[in-house]
Amino acid sequence: MAKQTERKEEIVICKHCGKPEYWGAMRWLSGRCACRNCYRSFWEDQNHKRYTWDDLDGPRPALEEYKEQEAKKCENTN
Ligand SMILES: [Zn+2]
Repeated sequence: MAKQTERKEEIVICKHCGKPEYWGAMRWLSGRCACRNCYRSFWEDQNHKRYTWDDLDGPRPALEEYKEQEAKKCENTN
């Protein structure tokens, strides 16, 4: 039986860099939905300055976690 106690946030793959990111941490900028890394570079491109805030820091999900999540989804479709 899988433990249900720890409910992790949904993990999605960023369209721009192909890296996993928490859905709740995805950012919108100019109609683009991007992970924190991409958001930071888009923002810097648009504003021509460094993004100096630390709100984009924090842990990123691992690709392994994403795969695990997708595997569980398949199990649940029975
Ligand atoms: Zn990205």
